[in-house]
Amino acid sequence: MACLSFAGRVWNRVEKTCHQMPIVLNTVLVFSITAEVSYLVLNEAPLQLDQKKTQWSMVWKTVHLIAQYFMLGNITWNASLFLKTNPSIRGVFLGSDAMAQGWRYCYTCETYTPPRCSHCYDCKVCVLRRDHHCVFFGQCVGYRNYRYFISCLLFMWTGLLYAVVMNAEVFIVVLKEGVTLHSIMLLLMPWIMLVSGQVTARAFAFAFIADTCVLGFLLVAAFLFFHLFLLLRGQTTREWYSIRRPYNLGILGNLRHSLGTRWYICWLCPLISSPLPGDGIHFQVTGSLEPDPKRLR
Ligand SMILES: [Zn+2]
Ligand SMILES: [Zn+2]
Repeated sequence: MACLSFAGRVWNRVEKTCHQMPIVLNTVLVFSITAEVSYLVLNEAPLQLDQKKTQWSMVWKTVHLIAQYFMLGNITWNASLFLKTNPSIRGVFLGSDAMAQGWRYCYTCETYTPPRCSHCYDCKVCVLRRDHHCVFFGQCVGYRNYRYFISCLLFMWTGLLYAVVMNAEVFIVVLKEGVTLHSIMLLLMPWIMLVSGQVTARAFAFAFIADTCVLGFLLVAAFLFFHLFLLLRGQTTREWYSIRRPYNLGILGNLRHSLGTRWYICWLCPLISSPLPGDGIHFQVTGSLEPDPKRLR
């Protein structure tokens, strides 16, 4: 029995660590990229000693650094508010509309849940207007934390776009020797080049971060534009495969309903208050709630 409980404790610990791994990894990557671009700005991007330096004034460097730390601040702040804001039904009075259209019974939570709410088997709870379970944060995106999710994604995208432009220098330096097997391997598989002793740790670090910026930018761009598309259509990720949009309030209505009354400015800083007009339980229905005929075929 004691052995079983010990095994259970170990398993819980392993599970918890696995859930936190993506958050730790993302934090390390975001801070490493910021440190690298700050280095490029402060040293006027001289990656090679014989390279002609671009002369940047102190004012110009300061503008770059302020922009970088503004983006970093927004990413980390929105991410922490996203994690702190509970999107689930825990502690929420759901009312007594259980027999109304769209309500369903969740056998795991043992309660009736409102429309657009669904159970997350990772979070082990029902989430109000559940969008999806974000594996990078280990938490669901729902009605109450959606604003922080979109703002974080937006600043990750702008930050990575900026980092890719700043890292153009790294690609130029690597490719200066021509498109050789060495330069291609360094850009595509920097780890192998480091382990096999073909490059210095410094060259590896720059190539690795430059690669991460490009890959991260493409990935985040795909996520951001997909979610902006859904946001404007008034759909969640779970609803997007349907041709029906029963909760569509028009572009401005959808923005207001998802990001709050100050949707036009709230993304600029998480401090800007933007109360959500609804309660995450009742939704204005503007279209048919019948199942999609395409899916019934
Ligand atoms: Zn549930
Ligand atoms: Zn979840």
